[in-house]
Amino acid sequence: MIVAADTAALLEKIDAMPRPLCLVPTMGALHEGHLALIHEARRVVGPTGTVAVSIFVNPIQFDRKEDLEKYPRPLSADLAACEAAGADLVFTPEAGQMYHADHSITVSENRLSSFLCGASRPGHFSGVCTVVMKLFMLFRAQSAVFGKKDFQQLAIIKRMVRDLNVPIEIIGHATIREADGLAMSSRNVRLSPEQRADAPIIRRSLTAARDLLSLGERQAEPILAAARHHLEKSQMLKIDYLSLVDAETLEPVATIRRPAILATACFYESVRLIDHVELLP
Ligand code: AMP
Repeated sequence: MIVAADTAALLEKIDAMPRPLCLVPTMGALHEGHLALIHEARRVVGPTGTVAVSIFVNPIQFDRKEDLEKYPRPLSADLAACEAAGADLVFTPEAGQMYHADHSITVSENRLSSFLCGASRPGHFSGVCTVVMKLFMLFRAQSAVFGKKDFQQLAIIKRMVRDLNVPIEIIGHATIREADGLAMSSRNVRLSPEQRADAPIIRRSLTAARDLLSLGERQAEPILAAARHHLEKSQMLKIDYLSLVDAETLEPVATIRRPAILATACFYESVRLIDHVELLP
């Protein structure tokens, strides 16, 4: 496995890497969710193609200083995990490497990012689009794998690739969960034992509300009310948002007639967790 610690090292190596090349962009603190994406990349490129992973805690996508500062960065464990998962190339740049001090170009998405996480994290998706575009240019990858856990991010990246004619295939991968249903996240390690024990309530609340759909409910309001009622049983979490949106446009819907998403973001103190379920009428 080749490790490139800066852009010069990456550019020196990248032309010699066998194609096709599939990229898995991450911020590190790798867990089984990330490893599933790496395995999917291997499936996509086959035994002779290149599986590339980037590990970069992208400062411009953080809207809260504390979240950026406390983001876990276990680099040597991450490199060992990449190697064990069969990655061929890992890119681990420093922030100063990725952004010139006077950088002045960003990529913004202006519709899908106005809802959900975009509404509560100003500038977040512009930071994501900008870094992902830079990674696509650096790697010149044929494909890239993203988790459906961050479904708004996946939708926005697909839109960026469509609208800017970026020559890459975007592949979505199902959410990997802990045995108790909590979606795996690099931020889970920041939960106290009590918060960690409480956190599966997020998934349970969403699935319990989704059950109303199989009983024939099609109105968003009672489904949202059921989810909110469940979430409020927790004494520890604070709801950032709870929304029921169209699966394609991400706009809030009042009546479910097409595939929709019930999505939430919740805080345990400063730790923000997200999850969602699909609602298929
Ligand atoms: P992150 O390091 O959190 O920026 O995530 C890097 C990639 O891993 C993104 O495409 C995420 O959607 C994906 N990812 C994170 N957690 C999970 C999970 N539990 N299951 C599947 N994919 C995930």
